[in-house]
Amino acid sequence: MKINLENTYSQLADNFYQKRNPDQVKNPKLIKYNSELTEELNINLDNLSDKQKAEYFSGNKLFPNSQPIAQVYAGHQFWHYSPRLGDGRALLLWEIIDNNNLRKDIVLKWSGETMYSRWWDGKATLGSVIREYVMSEAMYNLGIPTSRSLAVVSTWDVVFRENIQPGGVLTRVASSHIRFGTFEYFLRSWDIESLKILADYSISRHYSEIEKSENKYELFFQRVLEKQIDLVVNWMRVWFIHGVMNTDNMLICWETIDYGPCAFMDHYNKNTVFSSIDQNGRYSFMNQKYSLARNLARFWETLIPLISDNTEKSIKIIEKNLENFRDQFDEKYFKMMNNKIWIFQEEYFDNKLVEDILEYLEKNNIDYTDFFRNLSKSVWEQKINNFITNYYNNTLEAENTFKKLENILQKQSWNFDEIWEMMQKINPSIIPRNYKVKNAIIAAEQNNDFTQMEKLCDILKNPYTDNQEIIKNMKAPSFIDKNYQTFCGT
Ligand code: AMP
Ligand code: MG
Repeated sequence: MKINLENTYSQLADNFYQKRNPDQVKNPKLIKYNSELTEELNINLDNLSDKQKAEYFSGNKLFPNSQPIAQVYAGHQFWHYSPRLGDGRALLLWEIIDNNNLRKDIVLKWSGETMYSRWWDGKATLGSVIREYVMSEAMYNLGIPTSRSLAVVSTWDVVFRENIQPGGVLTRVASSHIRFGTFEYFLRSWDIESLKILADYSISRHYSEIEKSENKYELFFQRVLEKQIDLVVNWMRVWFIHGVMNTDNMLICWETIDYGPCAFMDHYNKNTVFSSIDQNGRYSFMNQKYSLARNLARFWETLIPLISDNTEKSIKIIEKNLENFRDQFDEKYFKMMNNKIWIFQEEYFDNKLVEDILEYLEKNNIDYTDFFRNLSKSVWEQKINNFITNYYNNTLEAENTFKKLENILQKQSWNFDEIWEMMQKINPSIIPRNYKVKNAIIAAEQNNDFTQMEKLCDILKNPYTDNQEIIKNMKAPSFIDKNYQTFCGT
């Protein structure tokens, strides 16, 4: 066994966390183990049997030097502010330096009650844990910054939800677990000293290049804003709906976190919502931009006391940065969308064309993933003129739209191969279809059958594949899954 553990967050003052060992679980069984990720993390557990691994990745046993802590944070959840959330069912076990010399948190999701559990039980269901594993690893393979999953362990404990469910433990890896809500916690309890310690810790861990700058807190805000815009635009590239964009689910290390109610959209409709608790579509697909703006505004407030002693001056500085949020977002969004239709030269970017295409998809209930993938292929094979008739029922309106694209592509000066190379990482052929994920979870929960999950995870490792058989197998359902619902998974 080779593993080099370190801890820096748990060296901060004890008002940042509660020290606590995980609760013991009954009969832990290793369901999934991400050996590629362990290699990246420089963890070598080759001499441990699956049974022994299950002991460690359930929290029954602790690696030497582990210092488990539940981190405190707050957060704006939907409309209201919760002054103290914190890890109610997770523990940061240790930190590790990976092969790229980057520090990672290793967190166990299932702790038993902590002082932040409120009325909850500190447990996780096996279904929710499998879901997080599948979705987070899929996002990683799609090239989107995300927390990752190292292991799934099933337990014989029962978990009471709407019905009785089997228990599961997830080991999660992320570049850190510092949330917008962690900043809010210290600001709103008016503990400015801790707030400064948190900001300095975050800057040194994630933005060390600005550490010595005079206006480092302003730069910190700018960096977080840019990274978060990049993240949400990247979600939109693959039509991912996060579903619960509360400030406690936004990490300053710009990775996607909290895979409770998320889902990918098949047939294009910008108002899609999957989450059962999002009745008003607050976090619908297209509202993700506005949710991000709101969350950044909440994060912004926390930096006011740090930027300057003069509150008005601080506000002016940050307002200036936040003001051009919309322009920055739209610029990045339309660049990404133009790239999806093979337009790479800025002078030919055509945002109206992008919107027309999306409108065409919406009107005709067309699957987003298939459409852009087919379009890519048609351009590559120089068959754009037949694209619509080849794949979709032709309409006059569509013909004009795609003629416009054809004209632009003719004008663009190409390095065809180079662009094709880039296209391979832009339009995936495969996403975790909702019905596939659901079936894998049902098989695991009801029949103790993990083969579907295993297969699905394997397929999702190559989301840009050209293997037609796999693509066919992962196609959008013929029905429109309007009734598909996701849950926070608590
Ligand atoms: P989430 O919806 O997973 O972002 O959770 C929101 C807050 O509720 C976080 O502070 C969680 O730690 C807490 N929480 C969610 N589920 C549980 C649970 N089963 N037991 C204890 N705390 C929970
Ligand atoms: Mg959360």
